[in-house]
Amino acid sequence: MTDVVVLGAGLAGLAAARDLAAGGADVVVLEARERVGGRVEQVAVDDERPVQLGGELVGSAHVAYLGLVEELGLTLATTYTAVEGATTYDLVEGVLRSEDGFPFATAEEGADFERVERLFGELVATVDPDDPWSHPDASRLDDASVAGWLRSVDAAPAVVRAVEAGALALAAGSSERTSLLSELRKAAAVGDTGFYSYDLWESLQVAEGSAEVALRMGAELGERVRLGAEVAAVEIASHGCRVTLASGEDVRAEAVVCALPASVLHGIRIEGASPDRLASLRAQRHAQAAKVVTTYDRAVWADVGANGLSEGEQLLASTWPQRPGVLSGLVPPERLAWLVATAEEHRAGILHAELERLYGPDAGRPRHTFLRLWGVDPYTLGYTTNWWPGDVLRVGPLHGTHDPPFYVCGSDQWVAGYMEGAVRTGRAAAAAALGRESWAAA
Ligand SMILES: Cc1cc2nc3c(=O)[nH]c(=O)nc-3n(C[C@H](O)[C@H](O)[C@H](O)COP(=O)(O)OP(=O)(O)OC[C@H]3O[C@@H](n4cnc5c(N)ncnc54)[C@H](O)[C@@H]3O)c2cc1C
Repeated sequence: MTDVVVLGAGLAGLAAARDLAAGGADVVVLEARERVGGRVEQVAVDDERPVQLGGELVGSAHVAYLGLVEELGLTLATTYTAVEGATTYDLVEGVLRSEDGFPFATAEEGADFERVERLFGELVATVDPDDPWSHPDASRLDDASVAGWLRSVDAAPAVVRAVEAGALALAAGSSERTSLLSELRKAAAVGDTGFYSYDLWESLQVAEGSAEVALRMGAELGERVRLGAEVAAVEIASHGCRVTLASGEDVRAEAVVCALPASVLHGIRIEGASPDRLASLRAQRHAQAAKVVTTYDRAVWADVGANGLSEGEQLLASTWPQRPGVLSGLVPPERLAWLVATAEEHRAGILHAELERLYGPDAGRPRHTFLRLWGVDPYTLGYTTNWWPGDVLRVGPLHGTHDPPFYVCGSDQWVAGYMEGAVRTGRAAAAAALGRESWAAA
């Protein structure tokens, strides 16, 4: 019997397995896909630029991820946050460019945005990110949506609209269906005092390509990672656990580290975990999204005086320059269903037309177009953690905890997803498992 079986070879599972192996455990990682990395994936285009189709950016607050990058001997580079110039706003009334944030029609609207952001920051200071449940107003803050709270503090309609555009630009859930408590917790976890500091969340990237983090860990683990091994069921018991693959094969281990995305986990039969644990896991959900990446031989957006950054109310909710001549874009949950329902052969043309409207004729003629529908990929079924109103209390304080010999990690087990959440919880799960005298000791 193996000491520990790790389910999933995304950043969380790989980080957990790497630490477990370093700690002397006999580890097997079961991965459904024929590659490691999960939601981080890269392709090389003709000129060898590593193009990221999934997770890409981190920020100065992402200490677990940055520490791992250093251990792996990878280097960091700046991101689009260092780019200057005019951002494009693709609003229903037309394409506008602004060097000063959301193009409010009046100075009063801009001042109102700053007022409500200050109020948000005051509330952030009242939330303990490790224990939001202890907040005296936890239930009320969790039941409120971000947009509902904005209206309750008399935010101008244009401010509610700007916050919604910002949320969808991240392809997070709509602010109408995002728990206020979850957003306060997310900000508190990184010391943010506003709605979203791009420096704290998105100012750094791995120069060799973000997916290199996973590829290097996968290479270190070697044959400990079994590709094409789809998990169908898990039985937890103190005298030994059994993981059943879709092929019917059983893998036995003293402990299980589950590093599967929350949406995928909903479809896996789990026996032997407590009803409270299962209820908590089953209450977690994802925002759905697609990522679009187009490549050019130069920064074509500069032709129209744009910096490549956009927020949009059409199909694309955001674009940003990933590398020289490489443009990333996100289709948010609200618009993904329409794209999925569109015949596959028409999707790229529709996206090219939108890019042309944003950035001129050459933007509509990329050298490569990659469209990754993560929201309907069977091994992701989502994109990033999303908390609807009421979800923080529904998931409850079991979030991010373990029931030995069943350990749970993955970006969904941190406050807000992200590669930081994957690495942080993966390493924490390994530390928890290594801390036990016997793998199966309850
Ligand atoms: C388009 C996109 C853009 C993103 N951008 C950013 C960003 O810029 N910055 C950032 O920090 N984060 C970003 N994220 C989020 C980040 O990539 C993820 O939160 C993180 O990589 C998740 O890691 P994980 O290990 O928790 O889960 P995953 O990477 O999803 O790993 C889970 C693994 O389990 C495997 N698996 C699934 N089902 C089974 C099964 N039944 N049996 C066995 N294995 C299975 C999967 O194949 C996968 O390898 C982005 C995500 C997407 C999709």
